Amino acid sequence: ECSRHFFVGGNWKCNGTLESTDKLVDALNNVLIPSNIEVVFAPTSLHIARAQQKLQHKEIKVAAQNAWVKGNGAYTGEISADMLKDAGLEWVILGHSERRSLCGESSQIVADKTVYCLKQGIKVIVCIGETLEQRESGDTSKVVTEQLGAVAQALGTDVSQWKQIVIAYEPVWAIGTGKVATADQAQEVHQTLRSWLSSNTSAEVAQSTRIIYGGSVSAKNCTELASLPDVDGFLVGGASLKPEFADIIKSGS
Ligand code: PEP
Repeated sequence: ECSRHFFVGGNWKCNGTLESTDKLVDALNNVLIPSNIEVVFAPTSLHIARAQQKLQHKEIKVAAQNAWVKGNGAYTGEISADMLKDAGLEWVILGHSERRSLCGESSQIVADKTVYCLKQGIKVIVCIGETLEQRESGDTSKVVTEQLGAVAQALGTDVSQWKQIVIAYEPVWAIGTGKVATADQAQEVHQTLRSWLSSNTSAEVAQSTRIIYGGSVSAKNCTELASLPDVDGFLVGGASLKPEFADIIKSGS
């Protein structure tokens, strides 16, 4: 477990102005980041450059919220991993549940995007998670291992590839709802994912791959969740737009 550096990502979603970007980045510039914690935040594509200009904190990286499945070309409205690389970004979020449900992104597309981004040298936060209906019908493990399986199929067993990604387990019913998973619920799924990795890739991949939790993480609930053996960090939506993001970062130390 010690080899898995705690990871905290902020997802600003479709929010922000130039002014609010400046304020949030100024606040982040003043956060003391414990040395073993990796921190990224993802503004909209339109605010990435502004955030990069304002960011002085060397321990924090700017990420993107999505990327196209291929390189540059006739793909109106999209942004390529090549552009993210050129702009100096290291990380991208892929397969967020809002993109899966609202933009129709399949697990296969998410896997293809992951492969393309890694090929361009962009590290990936891959989001997976079940809906409330799927949980209530007892399908959680099946759904999340299928979503992870598409990525695993594409990445294979090469541990160096897996070190370039972070798996974000985000139960859809917990995203933006204030209904956080209980410690038991989170640990159960994280453990399921890790043992799935062990059986389907290798023990080394299972031990070294970070699996972070997302879904209504707040300053109030982060300490308990951070202490769980298979929770290696957080992906934070709403609270990443608030001062409490700093408290969530520190919960990993
Ligand atoms: C998210 O957008 O990934 C997320 C987890 O949102 P929230 O923290 O607001 O539930």
